[in-house]
Amino acid sequence: MNLRQLVIDLAQALKPQNLTVAKSGNVSIANPGTESRYITPSGIPYARLVPDDIVEINIENGSETGRLKASSEKALHIAVARAYGYAVIIHGDAKWSSLVMEDILPITHDIFHIGDKIPFAPYATPGSEEIANGAVRAMHGGYPACILGQHGYIACGKDAEEALERAVWVEHLSETWLRHIQYCVQTGQRRKILPRDEIARLKEMFQSYGKQR
Ligand SMILES: [Zn+2]
Repeated sequence: MNLRQLVIDLAQALKPQNLTVAKSGNVSIANPGTESRYITPSGIPYARLVPDDIVEINIENGSETGRLKASSEKALHIAVARAYGYAVIIHGDAKWSSLVMEDILPITHDIFHIGDKIPFAPYATPGSEEIANGAVRAMHGGYPACILGQHGYIACGKDAEEALERAVWVEHLSETWLRHIQYCVQTGQRRKILPRDEIARLKEMFQSYGKQR
């Protein structure tokens, strides 16, 4: 599989699923066995991308190779790749995750597609080292995704399919979380977080989820 084409395919899959808006968001994929990753260029509509537009970045020294400039969130991709080694990293500027202001906790079992929570990283200027460091801090403990406060999410995986599926879950769970809070405020009810023993049970269940014999 051509990794540059895979970056394009993945980037183009985001907008139709409301996982990013217009030409926002960015995708990077590791070049196995090297220190380089392929990343979407800055500010080019995904529909127009061709493989030569994809920029190669070195995660050790930050250098880039290509005819276009790398995504403005290059530092975020580099920091998360260096800290956790994910093959595929997606950042989307999406609606629901941009409105979440705290960790998302288990109100449905679906969250265990990600973990026992979706951690929250407070707002930092787009493209800054602070947003990169904030994401790394939030994802500590093995969380493959996090909310970037007032700025969407990051979702990672061992391959494109896994990262994309997690991005879908982050947006879905963000909407669920926000609507649940709104419902609780409107009806005066307390938030319904799953009980601790049920969380432990679900964590275990999901460790074997989707694994065929
Ligand atoms: Zn963004």
